[in-house]
Amino acid sequence: MNAPFEPSQQAALVADLRTRFSGRLLTEATDTAPFLLDWRKRWTGKALAVAQPDDTESVAAVVRWCAEHDIAVVPQGGNTGLVGGSVPDESGRAIVLSLARMNNIRAVDTVNNTITVEAGCVLQNLQQAARDAGRLFPLSLGAEGSCMIGGNLSTNAGGVQVLRYGNTRELCLGLEVVTASGEIWNGLRGLRKDNTGYDLKDLFVGAEGTLGVITAATMKLYPLPAAQVTALAAVPDPQSAMRLLELAQNRLAASLTAFELISDYCLTIVERHFEQCRRPLSEPSPWYVLLESSDFESEAHAAERFESLCSEAFEAGIITDAAIAASIAQSKAFWSLRESVPEAQVLEGKNIKHDISVPISSIDRFIIETNAAIETAYEGVRMVVFGHLGDGNLHYNISPAPGVSPDEFMGNEPALNRIVHDAVAEHRGSISAEHGLGRLKRDENVRYKSPVEISLMRSVKQALDPKGIMNPGKVLN
Ligand code: FAD
Ligand code: ZN
Repeated sequence: MNAPFEPSQQAALVADLRTRFSGRLLTEATDTAPFLLDWRKRWTGKALAVAQPDDTESVAAVVRWCAEHDIAVVPQGGNTGLVGGSVPDESGRAIVLSLARMNNIRAVDTVNNTITVEAGCVLQNLQQAARDAGRLFPLSLGAEGSCMIGGNLSTNAGGVQVLRYGNTRELCLGLEVVTASGEIWNGLRGLRKDNTGYDLKDLFVGAEGTLGVITAATMKLYPLPAAQVTALAAVPDPQSAMRLLELAQNRLAASLTAFELISDYCLTIVERHFEQCRRPLSEPSPWYVLLESSDFESEAHAAERFESLCSEAFEAGIITDAAIAASIAQSKAFWSLRESVPEAQVLEGKNIKHDISVPISSIDRFIIETNAAIETAYEGVRMVVFGHLGDGNLHYNISPAPGVSPDEFMGNEPALNRIVHDAVAEHRGSISAEHGLGRLKRDENVRYKSPVEISLMRSVKQALDPKGIMNPGKVLN
């Protein structure tokens, strides 16, 4: 890492940037602090300044200035990322480029079924704009009240409806990007078909800000369902959850829009920290599935299909109990059980997170074998296992055993990662299914990808960001 700038050097650089960028520039420690600490409070960085441009031209001006002065650019959206990608390192030689002020909805086309939005648009506002136009924007995740579409694209976020609508990449038709040299590429095409060479937008999606800055995007819209039904089902084990998934897909086909696995321990910590969260079933169960279907006919049709699915699953011994939400408020309450798990984990204290995927058919074996290996090596640890079973993606987190100090426990992180990620590799899975690599999993990735794959990634980085100013130290070292 380079040495930090002297205060006089820093002041001169900021003054020079001011001559090229007249938008909001934060330099006071109290103003910049929230942009320098990540959501998990694991990484605190330093920066020359935080720039908050209002338009694409200003983003380009800031990036051009950074390129000329060899200053790193760290793009930031809602700063809800979980792998340390959105905050700078400790060198103080970076500009944090916050897209928060670029939050306009530029266009809605209900015939083409597309919406064009700026990168700083908060996901929830994008969903609302789609609803206002009588359409669905299906990307949905726990952080939707603060994460921004530019961040969602840059991490290729998943969330709870991937099963039906795909992840952010699959929802994206076009991008506007400021390149690492400060040029503007307007690729805001709303085309379902376009085979005119390399798909450049797909390079920027999931690049975690290491190739350029996404300033706007054209995203797909879908018809709004007439009704949604949510249920919480109790299952004895992950294998039963898999059987329920198969049955639900057979019976509901494309209407099945979410299928989330939650362990009993996850709900225990949610109930401990959030008084308003209570599971709707009287008997405890080791595992639960939260499932949702979207229906394009009517509320009654949706409820009937869902009830018959639950009865069939119950008779087949796949589920032991189920509660079907009778109102929107109840459905929200079911979802808040699932969505409060990450917050409850923060309140519980330090923990080791994994965001893994394996083929859906391997999920139960993965859980049983890996839980056993961990519990043998680290007696008493708490397994916090939940996630998007319908996508083969688990948040496979581990909390310390009672009485073990958090810092002592965190010292086991490399060894625990080895157990979990080796098991993932055995099942030909991924060590980062939806959160990206950031700085947390950058080096771990090298261990599990082939040298050919890493070398191709380096070639892409070199071609698009030859000076290495875009979010250095993230994704690749
Ligand atoms: P940030 O955290 O600000 O940035 C993330 C990365 O993208 C960084 O590397 C940053 O440099 C880069 N970046 C941001 N904006 C741009 C841009 N305009 N151009 C170029 N690069 C950019 N993730 C999921 O996938 N699924 C989930 O279900 C999910 N649930 C979550 C629940 C909670 C409670 C929390 C806190 C997080 C969750 N996440 C989930 C992780 C996180 O919300 C997502 O990764 C989200 O997409 C990040 O968006 P953001 O705007 O906060 O991006
Ligand atoms: Zn998730």
